[in-house]
Amino acid sequence: MTLSFDPRAKATTLYHGEFRPMFIGGKWVAAQSGQEMQALNPATGEVLATVPRGSAADIDAAVKAARAAFEGPWSKFSPYERQCVLLRIADLFETHWEELSVSDTLDMGLPITRTLANRRRVIGMLRFYAGMATALHGESIDNSIPGEIVSFTRREAVGVVGAIIPWNAPTAASIWKIAPALATGCTIVLKPSEDASLTPLLIARLMQEAGVPDGVVNIVTGTGAEAGARLAEHPDVNKIVFTGSTLTGQAIARAGVTNLKRVSLELGGKSPIIVCRDADIDKAVPVAAMAVFVHSGQICIAGSRLFVAREIHDEFVRRVAEYAGRLRIGHGIDSETEIGPLINARQAGKVEGYIKAGSDEGAQLVTGGSRLTGELYDGGNFIAPTVFGAVSDKMTIAREEIFGPVISAMPFDTLDEAVARANATPYGLAAGIFTTHLGTAHKLARRIKAGSVWVNMYHAIDPAVPFGGMKMSGYGREGGIEHLHEYLETQVGLDPDRLITQCRLKPA
Ligand code: NAD
Repeated sequence: MTLSFDPRAKATTLYHGEFRPMFIGGKWVAAQSGQEMQALNPATGEVLATVPRGSAADIDAAVKAARAAFEGPWSKFSPYERQCVLLRIADLFETHWEELSVSDTLDMGLPITRTLANRRRVIGMLRFYAGMATALHGESIDNSIPGEIVSFTRREAVGVVGAIIPWNAPTAASIWKIAPALATGCTIVLKPSEDASLTPLLIARLMQEAGVPDGVVNIVTGTGAEAGARLAEHPDVNKIVFTGSTLTGQAIARAGVTNLKRVSLELGGKSPIIVCRDADIDKAVPVAAMAVFVHSGQICIAGSRLFVAREIHDEFVRRVAEYAGRLRIGHGIDSETEIGPLINARQAGKVEGYIKAGSDEGAQLVTGGSRLTGELYDGGNFIAPTVFGAVSDKMTIAREEIFGPVISAMPFDTLDEAVARANATPYGLAAGIFTTHLGTAHKLARRIKAGSVWVNMYHAIDPAVPFGGMKMSGYGREGGIEHLHEYLETQVGLDPDRLITQCRLKPA
């Protein structure tokens, strides 16, 4: 793809192995312990920069700054002023979008064409929530004694929000947490993944430039076990919003019990794709393939269980495998690259383990299945897009989230059977249906237990549309108006000085 700029040239201006401080209370600081961690480029293994390895003391300082900002300067901002701040951030994101995209690509491997393409999702989110900042309002309810008593509700910010994000979409994940916080008047302490800390630090710089008061947005880099765990249990944090694995989500939910903070969780998945007998195969093949292979399978919504009607199963799987074989794999910073590396050697090893389990348990390897070697791949973590056929529901690769470029294909005979098997998972994040029959699409979609069900497409995520999981894929939604309610408390009251809960219309 031809881009309007040279990503490699831009990359050389960004990181040179230097120390990048974190952002607490409007100041750029090192960890109190003085410890640092390396940010590695997953395509080459080179050190991009070092960042502070923040721990409990740094989280405590950030929460203190967030509390002071929440009760101080930020509380004086009217909804309109918060809206203006969000719009200024959005404008700065437009100006710096190439830099943010290159940073994400270097730090976590997603090809530059994909990070650039996230523009609408991210900047659209900032503008969507800018609009919502002035649209928040309470209700009046005259249910108890109609005509005599009317109750009023008002919405207020929940307080200090702790946000913990994974490494696979640092810019999008940061903004999905920060934008609703700013719109509602909350303040936030965000802990990025230890595997992708760099772009959130660039984002902090843009927040400062946009005039976000000190302490409203704080970025603490560090590990999950140290910084993340302290944020999750912190007694002065009112809400945790988390994106990551189900296992960590469970730990965070447990930690939140200490002060009964609100918790919303966007977790893992094992999403099914159902290809019906009447599907448009030409259109379905690339979408079904990329439902997994995009970002080397390292996306929560990866449609990794491919159920295909038996009549078309063999042809469909063959064509998905051919498609996989044609994908250009390489460094994300090259504009021709379609598939980048896995995030680190540990993740690549884990995926290799799953591929071995697939073969050992009797699945048929149709394509891929190995690490890529050669000069281009030296120092990186590249695994060929892999398709397994003859998979059964009981096999490990059909049950567990692999978070790698692996499709498990399985035939089905009836739609009832396909639905039952698609739902036979503890997860419920996303699903895809391919059919040319509108009635079939509707009937299937409502029977699938997943937060998002896409028909004849995949990955369609929009700022105005709620996104999130059912079952062990989490609770709460991000995006849309629903997301804002997670950051708001409802209070019944009329006069803030006297806190009258109801207003009597007639004299008693
Ligand atoms: P992870 O759960 O290992 O880490 C996520 C974040 O949690 C990181 O910042 C990490 O430092 C932190 N963390 C780890 N242990 C912690 C603890 N005990 N207390 C507090 N914080 C802790 O996940 P990952 O490997 O970074 O990302 C991959 C997972 O994220 C996959 O399961 C994927 O499905 C999921 N994910 C879900 C979504 C979604 O929207 N549903 C999006 C992206 C990724």
